[in-house]
Amino acid sequence: MEVSCQCALINFTTPTASPLSVYHCHCTQCRVQSGSAYGTSAIFPAAGIFPLAPDLSSNLGVWTRNAKEGRTMDCYFCKRCGTRVMHRIRQADGTERETVSIKGGLVKGLQWKGAMHIYTESAVVDIPEGVKRWEREPDVMVGRPESNK
Ligand SMILES: [Zn+2]
Ligand SMILES: [Zn+2]
Repeated sequence: MEVSCQCALINFTTPTASPLSVYHCHCTQCRVQSGSAYGTSAIFPAAGIFPLAPDLSSNLGVWTRNAKEGRTMDCYFCKRCGTRVMHRIRQADGTERETVSIKGGLVKGLQWKGAMHIYTESAVVDIPEGVKRWEREPDVMVGRPESNK
């Protein structure tokens, strides 16, 4: 799938033809990060995107924030237009997760229906009827090592 930022400086193709998972996250961090009510994550394998090609590496800025349980999150953004592009989690031991979360609105042709809603405990908008929803994290999250056991 084609991924492009708002100014189109950042352009790449996802390693698989569809995401492994899509979710809407209503946590307070995603609200600030997206500048909107919630953030949408399309999860893809990191292999094929990382290591970053030279043009991506030079045009993407990265800001790292602390996450839960000693993890950190590398947050990549377009250096020109500022669009947040993707997030990759690093485990407490420094290992990078095998998946990357690409911001849904950047993925052309993304299938939005059927996505689960997570961290609904802090939602500021109504959650649609009939969707899969979790008050906080789901039991199984693609790419989370604990979920693969
Ligand atoms: Zn841009
Ligand atoms: Zn979130």
